[in-house]
Amino acid sequence: MLQFFDPPPPLWQAGLFIYGFLVLRYVVLAGGAFLLFCKWLAPKIHSVKLDPRPLKNEDAWREIRWSMLTLIVFSLNGVFIVAATRAGWTQLSTAPLSELSLLSSLIAVLGLLLFHDLYFYVIHRSMHHPLLYQRFHEVHHRSLSPTPWAAFSFHPLEAVVESGVVTLMVFLFPIHVSELVAFQVISLLMNIYGHLGYDFATREYHESHRILRWFNTTRSHQHHHRRFNTNYGLYTLLWDRILGTYQTPTEIRLNREPRHPESGTSIPGTLLDRSLF
Ligand SMILES: [Zn+2]
Ligand SMILES: [Zn+2]
Repeated sequence: MLQFFDPPPPLWQAGLFIYGFLVLRYVVLAGGAFLLFCKWLAPKIHSVKLDPRPLKNEDAWREIRWSMLTLIVFSLNGVFIVAATRAGWTQLSTAPLSELSLLSSLIAVLGLLLFHDLYFYVIHRSMHHPLLYQRFHEVHHRSLSPTPWAAFSFHPLEAVVESGVVTLMVFLFPIHVSELVAFQVISLLMNIYGHLGYDFATREYHESHRILRWFNTTRSHQHHHRRFNTNYGLYTLLWDRILGTYQTPTEIRLNREPRHPESGTSIPGTLLDRSLF
């Protein structure tokens, strides 16, 4: 695959390629999950939908618009990484795939996921400071009942901070570009799962399972979209459980528009008349 880039294209072409790849990845994975679960299977799986209200197309379009902006930010960061790699500043390898071992690549991808899990927890929890929340993170929380399209629904400045994790990775760790791409695909799949809105296992099953209780679920993340100051994790609930921010997703009854507990920001949404969980 990498021979495709020989000779290396100018940076603007690299940027267009990265943006195209990111949009394709988003449309195929997030759009595929949206069509499959939120449209085609929706009538059959309504009983496991966390929020019983029907989805509004305008919510999905808002998530898509913000996500497209986020992907521009991610692409610009990608251009910077390409330029830095060409200058020899990063540890990103483009060696032939035949030089990689499957085991070391699996360990590398797992390590990237764990690193991102901690990075995301710190950034996400910081974004809930009232000053940052009102200016930036409120965009993501406009989705009270997120869809898979919400995976990248961030304010562009929050997207800059989120993209910083990839920059850190290529400067800190000797990783191969294919390992980075594998990490990004898995990351998006987990992100989509967190915003799916359908949970096929019960809360009790997740809570009592020795292994699964450490992993984030769509139910835990939807709880975060309602309660704001709990369950910040992306892939795992490790840091939430260690640092005391985990809250079991319990029944929530809202009889008014939810407000951020610290800033008091009102979140636009329809009044709810029945339990969510
Ligand atoms: Zn979310
Ligand atoms: Zn949040």
